[in-house]
Amino acid sequence: MSIDIKDLEHGITRIDVHYIRPGLAGSYLVVEQNRAVLIETGPQLAVPRILDALAKKSIPRENVEAIMVTHVHLDHAGGAGLLLEKLPNAKLYVHPKGVKHMIDPSKLLASAMMVYGEERFGKTLGGLTPAPSHRTVTPADEERFFLAGRELVFIHTPGHAIHHLVIWDAKSRGIFSGDALGISYRELDGPGGPFLFPATTPIQFNPKASVESIRRLTALKPHRLHLTHFDSIDFNQTLMDDLERQLQDYAQLAWDIRADTLSDKSVRLLEGIKTLSRERLEAIGCPKTFLESSQVLSMDWEINVQGLNHWLDQIERELG
Ligand SMILES: [Zn+2]
Repeated sequence: MSIDIKDLEHGITRIDVHYIRPGLAGSYLVVEQNRAVLIETGPQLAVPRILDALAKKSIPRENVEAIMVTHVHLDHAGGAGLLLEKLPNAKLYVHPKGVKHMIDPSKLLASAMMVYGEERFGKTLGGLTPAPSHRTVTPADEERFFLAGRELVFIHTPGHAIHHLVIWDAKSRGIFSGDALGISYRELDGPGGPFLFPATTPIQFNPKASVESIRRLTALKPHRLHLTHFDSIDFNQTLMDDLERQLQDYAQLAWDIRADTLSDKSVRLLEGIKTLSRERLEAIGCPKTFLESSQVLSMDWEINVQGLNHWLDQIERELG
């Protein structure tokens, strides 16, 4: 089996959806008594990879009961509509505040076109298919789903976006965390462990809500974190404390330079985030040079700067 599919413990398989590059975004298949749930879809372009993974795991398409997405950003949920066509018995589980964008993806489409441009949209995301509303389910906070008796719990976790939820798997004490517990790439792992950093993506990022969500999830005392970006890692309280610290530092950084012009702000934010990242990469003994690590992280840094700027604008509007 290729490294695109990795079997973890407790009937969980991680699928690399090859969004932008290998090792950046994943999807998880949870199997119990030959029944399955898919968590995260990747972009629509990844649908053949997901179907291929099901075939390799000998799971009939009819046995997929649910597609669950942590939020409606297209690297997490872009494939949901097309997958519903391919998986006849599956329903789409999505946060109540995100479901309208799955049923009518015109807003998602417009903003993706703005960010990517038409050509890159096609090459990176592949398209967007509406989800029929009668096949969507909007779980409440702490609502349960049973997969052949295996309990999965939806937990609403605003912060990265208001329409963000995570899925708690009691059997493995694992959290399918979407972007609520940060991003961590395996090629940056050092002898001192992984480098985990926040995803402060536009346009709904809120640092205070992010920290509250992190605390709520760490109180569950999980054993594993199944990150969408990228891969499953061991839970470690120190990592969570440091994630909180980075969020506070990011927000402070943004707040301190709020009077600057937008271009100055963006440059200073980027420099500040780079410095915070560099300190951590050095502390874990990351095997890559900082220049190499910067190539891995540059896209996320840019997005984080945009999200922080957006958060600041919103605060200023609120303060009048
Ligand atoms: Zn994401």
